[in-house]
Amino acid sequence: MVHLRTPEEIDLMARAGAIIGDLLAVVPTRIRPGVTTGELDTFCEEFIRSHDGAVPAFKGLYGFPGAVCISVNEEVVHGIPSSERTVGEGDILSIDVGVRLDGWCADSAWTFAVGEISAEAQHLMKVTEESLYAAVEAAVKGNHVGDIGVAVMGAVEGTGYGIIRDLVGHGIGRDVHEEPQVPNVGRAGQGPLLREGMVLAIEPMLSAGTPAIKTLSDGWTVIPQDGSLSAHFEHTVAVTAEGPRVLTMARAEATEARLSGTA
Ligand code: MG
Ligand code: MG
Repeated sequence: MVHLRTPEEIDLMARAGAIIGDLLAVVPTRIRPGVTTGELDTFCEEFIRSHDGAVPAFKGLYGFPGAVCISVNEEVVHGIPSSERTVGEGDILSIDVGVRLDGWCADSAWTFAVGEISAEAQHLMKVTEESLYAAVEAAVKGNHVGDIGVAVMGAVEGTGYGIIRDLVGHGIGRDVHEEPQVPNVGRAGQGPLLREGMVLAIEPMLSAGTPAIKTLSDGWTVIPQDGSLSAHFEHTVAVTAEGPRVLTMARAEATEARLSGTA
């Protein structure tokens, strides 16, 4: 069933979400050539647990071994952090973070550059991020879930990028994954009606090539079948009377700490 959350409950989810927003604002200070995805995972886990009562919601979820998912280059999602996996200049990596705090969850992902990256990689990241914000704008009451997919498709149109269709966004609340599913493709006016109090994790995933995916032999890591570079941006968004409310934004202090190098 689709849950409708009260404004007070949405405020509680926003507390979990702010931890993720802050983490994704400061984690670039740790992303550099030579760092391992295992080290980044440890940084993320310690950052989350430094907030009273907060835990990494993905750790152990369906048996996932990491605190966060870290997916490098062609990897779309569900990359397993590892002390053996070093990233290098020109790589891109997506960090997907879930936090549970006082029984409420939030979920957000961002793709980052390692050092200088190619113009092609920059463009893929830019279009994916823009498609997320287009989708967020569509998360208003009276719209339907299909309108979110339409917004993603509109932002991606003409680029030749593949929208990953076999993975979807989702409702979120007491659990990380709740109803409804939120596909990144759709038809206007189709799918469940968006109502005040719905909270959705909206998460476009784009490949520079085919949208067809496969799962690697580790049972987790998802890549496009043609091995193309991939990007992933996600926010947890509440449908409110005032419009879409992004619950996973960084607080200004975190952004300032990153810019001043004190994070
Ligand atoms: Mg996520
Ligand atoms: Mg999600």
